[in-house]
Amino acid sequence: MPGRTTAVSVDLDDLGCYYAVHGVEGDASRLALVEWLPRFLRVFETLRIKATFFVIGRDLEVDLEDGGQGADVLRAALAAGHELASHSWAHAYDMSAWDEARVLEDLRRCDELLRAVGAEPCGFRAPGYTHSAAMLRAVATMGYRYDSSCLPSPAYYVGKVGVMAAMAVSGRRSSSRLRGVRSFLGAAAPHRRTDVPLVELPMSVTPRLRLPLIGTTLLGGPDWLRGRLTTAAQDLPHLHLELHAVDLADAARDGIDVALPELASPLATREARLVALLRGRGECIRLDRLADTIAGRGLDVDAPGGNQPKDV
Ligand SMILES: [Zn+2]
Repeated sequence: MPGRTTAVSVDLDDLGCYYAVHGVEGDASRLALVEWLPRFLRVFETLRIKATFFVIGRDLEVDLEDGGQGADVLRAALAAGHELASHSWAHAYDMSAWDEARVLEDLRRCDELLRAVGAEPCGFRAPGYTHSAAMLRAVATMGYRYDSSCLPSPAYYVGKVGVMAAMAVSGRRSSSRLRGVRSFLGAAAPHRRTDVPLVELPMSVTPRLRLPLIGTTLLGGPDWLRGRLTTAAQDLPHLHLELHAVDLADAARDGIDVALPELASPLATREARLVALLRGRGECIRLDRLADTIAGRGLDVDAPGGNQPKDV
C-alpha cells in the first residue's frame, strides 16, 4: 500500500519504574538491559526489523559501573542497525516541572553515556509521556532532531487519573504525575513542530476514539479490547508502535514477585502477538530516519488530527 509506514520504539524502563508507578514495594533488580532487551533483539532479528530504543541514562551509568553487561547489549543493538535515543538520565516523573537548565543538565548526562557506547542520539522521549515547553527547548538545544513524547490519547489520560485516584483511595502512592495534559492532545500524525525546531513523532492511537496502540494494550490488554485495537493497528497507514521493555518480561524467569498488569498473560503469548502484528505490517523505519523524512518533505506543521499524514 503506498504511503504505509511502520515504526517501532521501545522504552527501556526497568522494573523500578513500574514499582514506582504502581506504588508497590519490591526488589527492583536490573533487568531491562540485560534480560529484556536481548529478547527484543531476537524478535526483531527474526522479523528483520530496525527499531529505536529509548535508554535511561541512570540505568546505563549504573550498569557501566557494574561491569557493563547491559552496555554490551546496547552495543549489539547498534551493531544490528537499531537506533539508541534518550529517555532522559533520571527518568523523573516530575521532570515536566523542571526548569530548562535542569532538564538540559539531565539530557547532557544521558547523551554522554549514550555516546560512550557508540550511539549518536538525536531523539528524546520524556518519562511518563509527559513533556513541557522547557523540555522541548532543551531537546532542541541539544541539537536533537525529534521528540517522541506525545501519546495523543485523552482516554489514556483519563484512565491515568482514574488509576491514581483509586490508588489514593487505597492508600498507595504513585510516582506518576498528572500535569502535562497537552501531551495527550494534539496531532496524531508525525509533524514538524512550530514552537521548537523539532519533528514530533507521536505514538499511535486509534483514529476516532484515540485509544492508545501501545504494547500494554496490544500485547497484554483484555481480549475484548485487544482484538479491536490489533485490527486498528494493522489498518493504520502510519503505525508508530510504542513498546516497553517489560512487555517481554517473564515473571517466573525474571524473578518478579509483584503482580504487574503488564504481565497478566504469559511471555510466549505476548511475544506471539507482537510477531503476528509486526509481520502483518512489513518493513519498519527507525525514528531518526522517519524524522528526517518528515523534515525533508516539509510536512506541514500542525498535521490534521486524524491519522492521515499527508505524504508519509
Ligand atoms: Zn519510561
